[in-house]
Amino acid sequence: MDDCIIIGGGPAGLTAAIYLARFHLRIRLFDCGSSRAALIPCTRNHAGHPDGIPGIDLLLLMRRQAERFGVVREAAAVEAIELEDGRFTVVVGGARHPARAVLLATGVVNHRPAMDPALHDRALAAGLLRYCPICDGYEVTDKRVGVIGTGDHGMREALFLRGYTRDVTLIAPDGAHGLDPACEAKLDEAGIRHVDGPCGGWAIEGERLALDTAEGRQDFDSIYPALGSHIRSELAVAAGARASDEGCLEVDDHQRTSVPGLFAAGDVVKGLDQISHAMGEAGVAATAIRNLLAEQRPLWR
Ligand SMILES: Cc1cc2nc3c(=O)[nH]c(=O)nc-3n(C[C@H](O)[C@H](O)[C@H](O)COP(=O)(O)OP(=O)(O)OC[C@H]3O[C@@H](n4cnc5c(N)ncnc54)[C@H](O)[C@@H]3O)c2cc1C
Repeated sequence: MDDCIIIGGGPAGLTAAIYLARFHLRIRLFDCGSSRAALIPCTRNHAGHPDGIPGIDLLLLMRRQAERFGVVREAAAVEAIELEDGRFTVVVGGARHPARAVLLATGVVNHRPAMDPALHDRALAAGLLRYCPICDGYEVTDKRVGVIGTGDHGMREALFLRGYTRDVTLIAPDGAHGLDPACEAKLDEAGIRHVDGPCGGWAIEGERLALDTAEGRQDFDSIYPALGSHIRSELAVAAGARASDEGCLEVDDHQRTSVPGLFAAGDVVKGLDQISHAMGEAGVAATAIRNLLAEQRPLWR
């Protein structure tokens, strides 16, 4: 039986793996290879990398560090977490893996605008499309910025970006029209333009990303989709863990979910979706897991 099975090999899962392996615990890590960190062309707000670092390089370094302590990343998607008499069984490809504790670090997936996937990836790599103003709003300082979104969520993202540039336009996605008067008033006060979609006809034109709006074709130095995310918490929720209406897992100060022995860290948990936060939560979770296991049997050498 493994001491702990980690589900997810992004910054949260890999940090936990490094800690748990260094606690001399018997662990297993399953990862289906779709970390949000792998989409980062170059992160410049992650401390310790003054010239920035591409997300895939950061993941590679973390994987290498984990391997040094014996962690093996098994490339597979976990299908279920079952719980019986305080013991977990993690189901992967029909195989059943028993474990004393489980850490869920499965992250989230951003909803994308309706555009050709190859164009999406090119625009993302070039910084024409961005998903995280906290991460890279600095890079659009004094640039021409579009936000795809509506309602409260779109308004908040546009207002946040207004802290970097005076040239912000909020564009309603296809099918969504209008904003309530309170949102409109806040946008007007901040000098943020708001227009309806359709948000089609995406193309890279020169150095900019262009699209169709109700007021004609517009182009931007960067566009931020603010269309929400899918929270990958289903495995934990099916095992009985409490989550918010959007699906973010609820945890206590030790990253414990409402199911004893089931822990969670990173974007899948309600909180700041950042690498530093994912790593911090993973360190807390790993230490709490170690101490829980020590209550069950001595971990002496
Ligand atoms: C374009 C972009 C730019 C960003 N820039 C920055 C930045 O500059 N700075 C910053 O701090 N943050 C940035 N972020 C946010 C950052 O990527 C996330 O906060 C971070 O990756 C969260 O780590 P995580 O381990 O919680 O989740 P993830 O990195 O998403 O990892 C989750 C892992 O779980 C795996 N998984 C999911 N379900 C299963 C399953 N059933 N079985 C097995 N494995 C599973 C996935 O394959 C994935 O590898 C950016 C995000 C994006 C999209």
